[in-house]
Amino acid sequence: MAREAERLTEHFLAERQRGAVPALGATEFAVRTAMQRVGSVLLEQMLNSDHGGHRGQRVACGDGHQAEFIDYRLKQLQTILGMVRLERAYYHCAQCPAERRGSIPKDHDLDVVGTSLSPGLRRLMARVGAQEAFAAAHQDLAELAKPETGNGRLANGAGQRIDRFRISGFPFPGFHFFSARPEELTHS
Ligand SMILES: [Zn+2]
Repeated sequence: MAREAERLTEHFLAERQRGAVPALGATEFAVRTAMQRVGSVLLEQMLNSDHGGHRGQRVACGDGHQAEFIDYRLKQLQTILGMVRLERAYYHCAQCPAERRGSIPKDHDLDVVGTSLSPGLRRLMARVGAQEAFAAAHQDLAELAKPETGNGRLANGAGQRIDRFRISGFPFPGFHFFSARPEELTHS
């Protein structure tokens, strides 16, 4: 965090020293990008400080059986701070019907069962959806980067919602913008 701030400040001051006027627009994006990168690292560390939600070799499956710990599984989660990697303990119940044998308690705890979108991002997208009509008038403000949707893990319709999110002009930094540079930004 301190290193990021130092790097940005040094760059800003160096530009000024050699007589250049640092462009505010570029500086804003650089600061936001750096802060989001720091935030996503912090969030990832916090979320993975629980040993993947491991609760012993066996846990109750919810149907009166015992599910067995198999291994740890990774999930890429899109959050409002960018992509984070989640480590989760995977359990398997041999007695449940096939479609319910696997379970990941941590996904339940974090409310990310069957989705790669974080609760915060989902909330933001829902809010953007509600404000869509209003936001349509502000599309020229939509200096938002193109979200990364190419991982094939987004639920049906999520890509479309993300696209609306992108063009809606919502002034929030959004998600996955930690890699955004001004030249990559789109004017919708
Ligand atoms: Zn079971």
